[in-house]
Amino acid sequence: MKAVRYVEAGKPPEIIDLPTPEPSAGQVLLKVGGAGVCHSDLHVLDGEVPFASPFTLGHENAGWIAALGEGVSGWKEGDPVAVYGPWGCGACRTCQTSAENYCERHASIPTYGGGLGSDGGMAEYMIVPSSRLLVPLGDLDPVTAAPLSDAALTPYHAIKRALPLLTPDATVLVIGIGGLGHMALQILQALSPARLIAADIDDAKLEHARELGVELCINSRDSKTAIEQIRELVGLRGVTLALDVVGAQQTVDLCSAVVGRASRISILGLGGGVLRYSANRPPYGCEVTIPYWGTRTELMEVIALARAGHISSEVKTFPLEQAAEVYQRLREGRIRGRAVLQP
Ligand code: NAD
Ligand code: ZN
Ligand code: ZN
Repeated sequence: MKAVRYVEAGKPPEIIDLPTPEPSAGQVLLKVGGAGVCHSDLHVLDGEVPFASPFTLGHENAGWIAALGEGVSGWKEGDPVAVYGPWGCGACRTCQTSAENYCERHASIPTYGGGLGSDGGMAEYMIVPSSRLLVPLGDLDPVTAAPLSDAALTPYHAIKRALPLLTPDATVLVIGIGGLGHMALQILQALSPARLIAADIDDAKLEHARELGVELCINSRDSKTAIEQIRELVGLRGVTLALDVVGAQQTVDLCSAVVGRASRISILGLGGGVLRYSANRPPYGCEVTIPYWGTRTELMEVIALARAGHISSEVKTFPLEQAAEVYQRLREGRIRGRAVLQP
């Protein structure tokens, strides 16, 4: 089968032929329907997230069950499923609560899951180590549902934790309206009455936010102007939740400059920004969080939101063979919504 492999830091991914894997006891073989192209892969390809190579990329996956390893029950061939991506030990306290994204044994597990240190979904088939990591998709198409497992799950987790703050008089700022950001806006619209502001440095991404129904869209290329515009909108109260889906120095500073007292800054992007603190900036009472991905039960909730028609990822599909070109397009900001590789 064809697979898109991370071979070496600083090099584009390569397409190679691999034998189709066979599931061992307890494992499940997935026929991949779609594998989302996440910006985190660029951090991996650039060597910023150090994983031992080589491995097959693709950590945002959905497909159909192709074969069950010995001892796996409760599932059958052909079932459409999303793969829960952050593979923990399955046994520690947080894993037992379904929050494998915060597995306590994380430091002793050399990979973060399929596509992040071990073989992922940018191939015709992938091995999922346990059926506990599968969530039924119901009537959703695995090709377009793949982004639910990361591009939607990650902001959902961050937003759900912030819900008590999101009263009707609150304002949420989402910075970076790409794969994760365009899902964050829809999740916020579905779960909260708070007012939304979308910020990006690319007018095309802001146009996307407008099409999703967000009225307040701000080009933040010039930080000073953006801070003035946002402060004008929110007044003394300030922004209540700033979701930084970029995490660059400019965006972290923007969050810090516009949030109000007793607010929350949630940094999702891995842009390498440093949040500075000096008296009252960010303001007193502001909580800063660095959420990672989401829990298994939250993936079930995200899928329920999608099945009920509240959220849907804007997907453009590409064949595996175009992986290197698609990553380059993502790097240049030329992907709207989410690109999904379809084997
Ligand atoms: P993407 O490339 O699809 O979207 C990024 C968006 O940010 C684009 O619209 C781009 O125009 C915009 N942008 C870039 N620089 C900006 C700036 N200085 N100010 C405002 N907007 C800017 O990326 P994505 O796949 O949505 O991922 C976003 C980030 O989230 C990446 O850093 C990725 O690694 C990270 N991520 C984190 C987690 C987590 O669990 N914390 C999970 C998935 C992705
Ligand atoms: Zn990702
Ligand atoms: Zn664990």
